[in-house]
Amino acid sequence: MRIVLLGAPGSGKGTQAKKLMADKNIPQVSTGDMLREAVATGTRFGLKAKSIMEAGNLVPDDVVLGIISERLGQPDAQEGFILDGFPRTTQQALDLEELLDEMGTPLDTAVLMDVDFDILMKRLTGRRTCSLTGKLLNVYFSSQAELDECTDAGGELVQREDDNEETIGNRLSVYRENTEPLIEFYKKREKLTTIDAEGAIDEVYTRLRESLQ
Ligand code: AMP
Repeated sequence: MRIVLLGAPGSGKGTQAKKLMADKNIPQVSTGDMLREAVATGTRFGLKAKSIMEAGNLVPDDVVLGIISERLGQPDAQEGFILDGFPRTTQQALDLEELLDEMGTPLDTAVLMDVDFDILMKRLTGRRTCSLTGKLLNVYFSSQAELDECTDAGGELVQREDDNEETIGNRLSVYRENTEPLIEFYKKREKLTTIDAEGAIDEVYTRLRESLQ
């Protein structure tokens, strides 16, 4: 199963991709995670990407394509993958199409995760990661017990560098301008499925599973 998860920042692509990965035993391929890793290891390329990401802008298409083509060539991606945060531009979608054509493994579906703007803002500004467990939490939507479980164990609720209000505003407009056109792109190819991605994580996951049948 080869899937693209499409949706605005905060639509829950990462969360749902992780659930699907565990369920279907195919890897989640997140360009955002891979770029953050490059930034954390402090490579020359990582340093360049850091300022772009902190501003909420897009890393150049050729850089992202390089990362993706290497990743999709790895053994664990041969039975399928869930692309999370890629493609983000029409050029990236075309590059992906060409890459998958060359590999002889076309994409099955692009799932658009549809979320209202106000909820996106709360999801993004409230998003935290537990420094101990890596668990994704949200100060608006997680229960107090879940938040306490992290802090009582000595963990911290860490906010992503690019989850501040200014960067979030830019990320959302970058999404509208560059990534939203991909909805039409995949519609034209008859690969688009849209799901309502509001509500509890498990409810959304049920809808995602149903959309993939
Ligand atoms: P994400 O974790 O998917 O929200 O990505 C975090 C940041 O990484 C984005 O705001 C971009 O700066 C960069 N990034 C991730 N994926 C891509 C991509 N496909 N193309 C360009 N930049 C990307």
